[in-house]
Amino acid sequence: MRHERIGLQALFGFKHLRNALFRAKFIFLSKRLIHLAKISFIQESGDNFYFCPDLKTVLIVGSGPAGLMAAYQLARRGYQTHVFDHKKSFSRKLLVAGKGGFNLTHGEELNSFLRKYNDSKIQDAIRLFSNDDFRTFLMEMGVETYVGSSGRVFPIKGITPAELVTKWKQSIIDLGGQFHAEHRLEEIQGASMIFETEKGRVKMVGDYLVLALGGASWSVTGSDGSWTGMIERMGIKVIPFASSNGGIVLDSEFLDKNSSGKALKNVAVFASDVYRKGDLVFTEYGLEGTPVYALNGAVRENKELCLDLKPDLSESQIKFRWNSELQPTDQLRALKLSKEAISLLKRTLTREEFLNVDVLISQIKRIPLPVQGLRNIEEVISTVGGVAMDEVNSSFRIKKLKNAYAIGEMLDWDTCTGGYLIQASVSTGFVAAEAIINADRSLED
Ligand SMILES: Cc1cc2nc3c(=O)[nH]c(=O)nc-3n(C[C@H](O)[C@H](O)[C@H](O)COP(=O)(O)OP(=O)(O)OC[C@H]3O[C@@H](n4cnc5c(N)ncnc54)[C@H](O)[C@@H]3O)c2cc1C
Repeated sequence: MRHERIGLQALFGFKHLRNALFRAKFIFLSKRLIHLAKISFIQESGDNFYFCPDLKTVLIVGSGPAGLMAAYQLARRGYQTHVFDHKKSFSRKLLVAGKGGFNLTHGEELNSFLRKYNDSKIQDAIRLFSNDDFRTFLMEMGVETYVGSSGRVFPIKGITPAELVTKWKQSIIDLGGQFHAEHRLEEIQGASMIFETEKGRVKMVGDYLVLALGGASWSVTGSDGSWTGMIERMGIKVIPFASSNGGIVLDSEFLDKNSSGKALKNVAVFASDVYRKGDLVFTEYGLEGTPVYALNGAVRENKELCLDLKPDLSESQIKFRWNSELQPTDQLRALKLSKEAISLLKRTLTREEFLNVDVLISQIKRIPLPVQGLRNIEEVISTVGGVAMDEVNSSFRIKKLKNAYAIGEMLDWDTCTGGYLIQASVSTGFVAAEAIINADRSLED
């Protein structure tokens, strides 16, 4: 890697400069020898495996799952791979994601898996590097996984998020990759990247640049979305960030302060075109839980959201089971509605309405939610917005830049939580790496 520390040369005396040059030459020749040995080993083994023959350099910024996957694939093919992150340590969002149940992908069958995404380039990337491929990749790295009862894929017991990150990083280092913490990308100038570091501004030059800068939630992890200005200055369209996979904020009148922290189990939330079953939890501002996360898109489109307290029975089935001899509250208990669900029905109906069987049954199946909006970006699992999808080609190369790619959550696509976010991030990293490898391979053919 050509590496300049601006203004640093002035500090060197001639002797120091000569020694430094000698050392650099020695390191370069050693690396070159190891590299040539690797090529000849691969050629002798008769493997049809492309190995970058001329020490090309790839600069990858962002050490989340997208950046790590691209780094692994490129280092494995002999590229001089450098991963930069502006935080002191790496992959912080992945570590945070791992705290609340470390689900890396989902075990769903491919076709229904693909339907969870709103963008065809992301779907194509997952076709090329699927949930099964990711599980195999993890297995080869020593991280065995299993499919939980919800379909989510977890590492087997005993493998912590920190261990996964350490193994992943180490496997890249073993392949010759290098990691650089506390390097904040400030600017891209052609084939160069300018980083702000503790020691001042540093310029790096690479044959390929890969941006894996993440979205804008949980900024404490480093994914703070502050890169948008840099990208827009290059004439690349950026869609403003918005919350995704977050709780919904409801009118305070709808909420009961005693309900905060209490669950509504086996319910469903729906809008005109989406219906999601699952568990919800009341908070002091509204509702959290997978069904509302899946309907964040509907909230962004100002669609009406409703709650179904008895998703397993239709309105007519409830009517059929209704025993008019019981008091309404006892009847609701007989239907196995929870205390929380009954309290919600009482809060949202007048006394007369509650005593009217038809109105009560209709309310069980459809309680309109007075949504004020989505939870703040800082608090949510992911964001939509970022680099517009039409600014990248099907390999995630940024059309307006030469040899630069954008991957992972920094692109404007959406999906639900449950492993789908991490899967799309690694699939885009894989596809961009393959595109770089194929571009070089075709130059040689
Ligand atoms: C609480 C929580 C729970 C989650 N749970 C799940 C889950 O269960 N399943 C799931 O699939 N997903 C989950 N996610 C989402 C998942 O973690 C992200 O979608 C995924 O990490 C995105 O990967 P990425 O590589 O694109 O970006 P990130 O992982 O966000 O990495 C981007 C990196 O770029 C670095 N960076 C940013 N700007 C610069 C700069 N200018 N210079 C240098 N470095 C920079 C950041 O420091 C960061 O390390 C969760 C997220 C959160 C916050």
